[in-house]
Amino acid sequence: MVDLKRQYEKIKLEIDQAITEVINSTAFINGPAVKSFQEDLEQYLGVGHVIPCANGTDALQVAMMALGLKPGDEVITTNFTFIATAEVIALLGFTPVVVDVDPDTFNIDPEAVRRAITPRTRAVVPVHLFGQCADMDAIMQIADEYKLFVIEDNCQAIGAAYTFKNGTRKMAGTIGHVGCTSFFPSKNLGCYGDGGAIFTNDDDLAKQLRVVVNHGMTVRYYHDYVGVNSRLDSIQAAVLKVKLARLDQYAEARRKAADYYDKAFSGHSALKIPTRFERSTHVFHQYTLVTSGIDRAALQEFLTSREIPAMIYYPVPLHMQKAYLDPRYREGDFPVTEHLCNTVISLPMHTELDEEQLEYITKSVLEFVNR
Ligand SMILES: *Cc1c(COP(=O)(O)O)cnc(C)c1O
Repeated sequence: MVDLKRQYEKIKLEIDQAITEVINSTAFINGPAVKSFQEDLEQYLGVGHVIPCANGTDALQVAMMALGLKPGDEVITTNFTFIATAEVIALLGFTPVVVDVDPDTFNIDPEAVRRAITPRTRAVVPVHLFGQCADMDAIMQIADEYKLFVIEDNCQAIGAAYTFKNGTRKMAGTIGHVGCTSFFPSKNLGCYGDGGAIFTNDDDLAKQLRVVVNHGMTVRYYHDYVGVNSRLDSIQAAVLKVKLARLDQYAEARRKAADYYDKAFSGHSALKIPTRFERSTHVFHQYTLVTSGIDRAALQEFLTSREIPAMIYYPVPLHMQKAYLDPRYREGDFPVTEHLCNTVISLPMHTELDEEQLEYITKSVLEFVNR
């Protein structure tokens, strides 16, 4: 699904030098490389504070801890996402409330959010799924009306830009009260191990986020809060600094691949190409088709036999996951999510796809669906 080897070979000199510098400095934890990457990312995103941490799941957990939510508080999120989003809500003793998604953008349906609000609702977690922003005009409006925190799960859309109806433009992850991202190797900005970060424009919240990631410590060895240990390694930060400088170029390469796929599949009765939401740029973390009238498992198998990886993101909605079964929810309650789980398929999407590969992939898909 991704080709990190070829990407590395093109930036090998810079990456190797950056890693060697950290090793020579022996500042492996909280070294200057972390500060330097943090500042670059703050500038790139146009956000007041970037707080690096150990991974995207921690970023979400720390964000929720720092906002001071209490056990029993309800947190609304999308039913169609990676498990981490709901996992941290459950782990912290809050109540995950899942809602259905828009059938075209796959992102959280703002009207479904509105219907799910109760007096116990404290926060909403939109996920910018597959590389484009959720409808943040509507989400921020609802959050404002009901005094809810907005925590953006931006693990899949770093580098995407959102344009509000009034013309204001903001980077994904800097729109809500707090934004979270992951630097897992296969993400759009991936390091060579685990990594993550939290973004906010709120100075007080930034202070609290820094306390929570560092054992709840306010003054050295004085712990005013129960926190966690969540840090970004200096070596990972050094890698990320090199790759951040190329993030827009990487997004462009992904969009070009998506354009090629779109052209090949557009108008086909068995394949619905991804809808591009007009208020967000799309950084194509995934290229996801909605199939109809074909045997999806057989398509996946056929592609595998041609050595083309294809993945189902995601096969099971949150409310049907064993660990998250809840008497409030039944099969059939979330028709859009359930339909997508049964019909979507994602094709290889990364920065190194060349014309020859794209031609081979599209021809293979079409050969299967046309037979
Ligand atoms: C990857 C991902 C996460 C978790 O990030 P990790 O760094 O793997 O912990 C959370 N939410 C979404 C939507 C993701 O895609």
